[in-house]
Parts: sequence; C-alpha cells; structure tokens
Amino acid sequence: MKSKIWLSSPHMGGNELKYINEAFDTNWIAPLGPNVDGFEQDLEVFLNEKVKIAALSSGTAALHLALIQCDVNPGDEVICQSMTFSASANPIAYLGALPVFIDSEKDTWNMCPVALKEAIEDRIVKGKKPKAIIVVHLYGMPAKMDEILSIAREYDIPLVEDAAESLGSKYKGKACGTFGHFGILSFNGNKIITTSGGGALVCHLQADKDKAVFLSTQARDDAPHYQHSHIGYNYRMSNISAGIGRGQMEVLSERIDSRRKMHDFYAELCKNMDGVELFSEPSTDFYSNHWLSVITIDERKSLKTCEDLRLAFLEEDIECRPIWKPMHLQPVFKDAPYYGGKVAEDLFGNSLCLPSGSNLSDNERERIAEVMIKVFSNNKEHPVLR
Ligand SMILES: *Cc1c(COP(=O)(O)O)cnc(C)c1O
Repeated sequence: MKSKIWLSSPHMGGNELKYINEAFDTNWIAPLGPNVDGFEQDLEVFLNEKVKIAALSSGTAALHLALIQCDVNPGDEVICQSMTFSASANPIAYLGALPVFIDSEKDTWNMCPVALKEAIEDRIVKGKKPKAIIVVHLYGMPAKMDEILSIAREYDIPLVEDAAESLGSKYKGKACGTFGHFGILSFNGNKIITTSGGGALVCHLQADKDKAVFLSTQARDDAPHYQHSHIGYNYRMSNISAGIGRGQMEVLSERIDSRRKMHDFYAELCKNMDGVELFSEPSTDFYSNHWLSVITIDERKSLKTCEDLRLAFLEEDIECRPIWKPMHLQPVFKDAPYYGGKVAEDLFGNSLCLPSGSNLSDNERERIAEVMIKVFSNNKEHPVLR
C-alpha cells in the first residue's frame, strides 16, 4: 500500500521531546514557564530585528490582540487583503468591526497597492477612515512592502502583517512580520514549523508586548485579589507547546531550505509543461520560504484544468488543494466593501497548491512527478489554440 502524501505535514526535528520532558520534570505544565520564555527568545533572535515576541495560543488570537491594540472598536472599518485564509479577517468580526477587502496584484498575489490607496481615499470620503490595514504574505511570498508601507504612512493607518505563512521569508533582506506595527505568526500543524497549535504576536515596543501578555492572561490588574479593569482573554501559549516550538526552532533553517528545494523540484518538472506556471518570486527583492508551491494552469495551453489534476492526484492518494478562495467571494462576507478587479478571482479559478512538505522522500516526489507528467503529457497531441 502506498502511503498518503500530504500537502504539508508536521516535521519534527528531534529535540522537541527533550524540552517537553524538561517541562514535566520541573512541573511547568502551564501557560507560562521556561519553554515559553525560551521560544520567544529563539524567535526574536531568528527575526533579528529587535522585536519583542508574545507567544500565544494561535495566529488568530495574535491577530485579535493586534487589532485590539490598534484600537479597533465596534463599527470601525479594517482593510484586509481579500485572497487569504479566513483567519486573517475573522478577528475583525470578533471586534464588531467591518472588513473592507482589497484585490491582489499579479506579481506577488498579495494586496494591490493601487486598490489599497483607492479604498482608503473612498472610505475617507464616505466618512470613515480605516483603523488598520491587514496585509498577508501568501504562501510565503512577501507582499510589496515599500508601496504598502508608504501608503499606510501617508494616511497614518497602522499596518498589521499576517506572516502566518511566511516565517523565514524576507523582503529586501528584512524578515516578513517585522515591517508593520504588529506582525503575527502561526505554528499550526500545517505551517512551516508547528507547536501543534500556536501563534505569536511580533511587537516593536516592550510596552506592546507587555499589553499583549496582559490581555492574553485574563487582564488581571496588579492587586492581591482578582481585579479587572479590562476584558481579558485566555490566549497565552502552553509551556508544553512552546517546548515543541523550541525543538522546531533548531531546524527552522533546514525546513526553509527543504521547502525552497520543493519549489525547485516543481520548477524543473513544470518547465516543459505548456500552460503550467509555477508561482515564483518576481525579483531578488523577494525571498519566499515557499511554504506551499502553487501552480497556475492556463487551460487553453495545457488542455487540462486544476480539477483534472486534483482528481488525478486524489486517485494516487496525493493531497493538493485549490488556493484560498478570496474573502469578498465568501458568503459570510458578502456585504463587505471590495476594491479592485478580478485578479484574485481569476487566480482562484486556475491555481492549485501542491504537496510541499519538508519531509517528502525521493520516492514520494517521483509519485508526484508521475501524476503530473501523465496529466500534462498529451499537451503535444492537441495542437489547439497555440
Ligand atoms: C494559518 C493562518 C492563520 C491562522 O493561524 P492559526 O494559528 O491557525 O490561528 C492566519 N492567517 C493565515 C494567512 C494563515 O495561513
């Protein structure tokens, strides 16, 4: 029996259990302790930008706390990239605020600066200046940060970077997640490293980190009894999860290399396939961790659809997945304003995420290649429309 090939599965480094055992030996079985502190320090060193990290229970929780710290309140508007996972937008709704969605541009598939500017000006004319901008580095690809930051500064709107998929990615040599007022990271099971479930808030000021920790531990005032002046949350990372994180940090650089090698593998495989284009860095300014490798299919040239390929993979027990369906097309956000054209929508219709794990074997890569070659091999037999 052939084993299932996953899109992106957890890949332990080896020392995770050592850190967990230390937690058991010292009875730090709690949402605080040496692993939490150690994991935060490891991330600070890795990002290398004098940031302060608050380890939290999920990336979604980190985004929720980022928006609270941007003073997002009920009825406020928050700008968000449309093509992303729903967790980028859900925290806006948690706060009773309203999302305003922005199209992608074609180079990085991330927030289009032109549509962003148009949206901000139009929302201001309509009487409401957006309270925050959420930009995403999709599939590890850095967004056009120079353009986006300059617009955020021009209108003095805080920028929150959703770097859940882009730990290790860089724009012009600077780590994704460290550009905005806040950045968020995710360590869910499918991400480039995992803590089983977890996330982090990237802050630039110690006071912002302290506030995130305060809010994430039930917002307890400084008093001997339980005294509260704020609504609190139970969002701190467990010391057990953080132990996994510390083990994973030891191999993060290797994981980035492996994911980038998977991208190279697909580049080689697709280079002679008509109508199959691999999503790649537009220039050397962009350094992607290639969390997932993604292809776009031009049906007129390939004569095959994403669905053809997906079903062929399925038959061989190989997981693949359509790209994120844009938020402005989601039933739950159907009433939200949207700015831009059809870039995200068109990409959604023609793109597929391919198995990209750092733990795939040569044999598994062969199985993947066989399916793709089989599906796209009859290109040449149908010289239609070329
Ligand atoms: C995974 C992910 C999140 C959410 O992170 P969790 O840790 O799963 O809550 C947010 N945004 C994007 C783009 C993601 O891929």
